[in-house]
Amino acid sequence: MSSSSPVIRRKAKYVVGYKDGDHHIYQDGEVVYQDNTVIFVGHDYEGHIDTDIDEGNALIGPGFIDLDAIVDLDSTVLAFDNQPGWKKGRVPSKNWQRRETYTPEQLAFNKLYSFNMLLMNGITTAAPITSILYREWAETYDEFVTAADIAEQTGIRAVLGPAYMSGYSVTSDDGKFSMRFNEERGLAGLRDAARFISLLENDYSSRITGMLAPDRIEGCTPKLLRESAAVRNDLDCTLRLHSCQGPLEVDMVDALHDGKSSIELINSCGLLSNKTLLPHLQLLGGKNPTEDRVHDELQLIGQAGASAVICPLVAGRHAKYFSGLTRFQSAGINIALGTDTYPVDMIQNMHVGCILSRVTEQSITEASAADYYRAATIGGAKALGREDIGRLCRGSKADLIVFDFASPFTGQLFDPITTLVINGNGRDVRSVIVDGILVVDNHKLKNGNDMAHLHAKAQDQYQTFMGTFPERCPGTPALDEIFQPSFRTTQSPANA
Ligand SMILES: [Zn+2]
Repeated sequence: MSSSSPVIRRKAKYVVGYKDGDHHIYQDGEVVYQDNTVIFVGHDYEGHIDTDIDEGNALIGPGFIDLDAIVDLDSTVLAFDNQPGWKKGRVPSKNWQRRETYTPEQLAFNKLYSFNMLLMNGITTAAPITSILYREWAETYDEFVTAADIAEQTGIRAVLGPAYMSGYSVTSDDGKFSMRFNEERGLAGLRDAARFISLLENDYSSRITGMLAPDRIEGCTPKLLRESAAVRNDLDCTLRLHSCQGPLEVDMVDALHDGKSSIELINSCGLLSNKTLLPHLQLLGGKNPTEDRVHDELQLIGQAGASAVICPLVAGRHAKYFSGLTRFQSAGINIALGTDTYPVDMIQNMHVGCILSRVTEQSITEASAADYYRAATIGGAKALGREDIGRLCRGSKADLIVFDFASPFTGQLFDPITTLVINGNGRDVRSVIVDGILVVDNHKLKNGNDMAHLHAKAQDQYQTFMGTFPERCPGTPALDEIFQPSFRTTQSPANA
């Protein structure tokens, strides 16, 4: 920290600081930072200040941490009202010759667009996910070098690693699933991922860190999982693995691995540790779940110090949810959040998560707004093994967001966190600072990108992408048969 860098103070009606191990609200508070570091949170800072900003009727809090952040144009939304998913391109047809659907430039554009969308929503740290259903194989080293460059340019804090796999599922025309494996290719993907993590350490700013991201559990052979654990131990990095997400996975893991559940398989390969992120965790206990089996799995995850990454919006849309904040917490499992779909809105995810927790456990006291706010901040930081993000206190990184209570849409303000979670959404995030740099100012990007332009280009690209679905669907149906409109639609004669 050079003494010549300006000291900036931002005041607001509410400032969420951090004290005695938890968030702490300072009414009419202030946060003071210099370079990328917070130097004061509270009232009446007495030191020298260069720039003094009053945010007014707003909340200043830590930026959100999104550990399953879609950095892609969203293909899962296409299945929302178009089911069953396997008929609608959610599992490729066995007759499809895998190929790249996007050009490298289009893939890079998806990342540029998404990193900016995440920032606009107050997500300051993101661990990306993309769909590899429409890829020639999985993600690549070169693509992630570009992703790291884009993350640097946009100003987001990112945890990056190309997804790799040993195989993938395909469907026949009558909906029977099978797997296709190429173990060597999976191991080559792991080597590339390790090489990429080393590159980040040497050539990029401290905002960009690496992770291992083996794709879904059913597509990983035990050898790939064991070798991933060894590399993880070697590099001491985060490892994320989707598991316990859907019935196809549960059935496949059971059939391929002598009746094991996904968590039993992960554990037997040495993958559970305090650096492990487990998105979803909805279907515990394998194909034949019992109370005891589910209990044992929760104990395994908790004792290892692994983190659950809960994605409420995508889970609820698929009519599934993990079984209990209270239950997971009493097993010692840290809970973090992911957005995983559009909108990339952490606030909406906190609200939907709260509702789903209460409905699934049939208890109005099962989850509070504060529980989910913690998961979106402190929980995410803990999952990444970091104590300098997800909170605002002396010495923490200056990753902060300004949430607007002046908007009439936020309704009545009674408790700033509850009002934010249940009446707010990502569109109420007015300004975003990452690593001390203002990247969103009054809803406008300050990193040189233009959201209106990115939005229009994304829609064009999505139109082209949708046109590639027939070739991947079993029986190659026409596009309008795959995705039916909500109501009968008449085109303008001008377009006929
Ligand atoms: Zn996911």
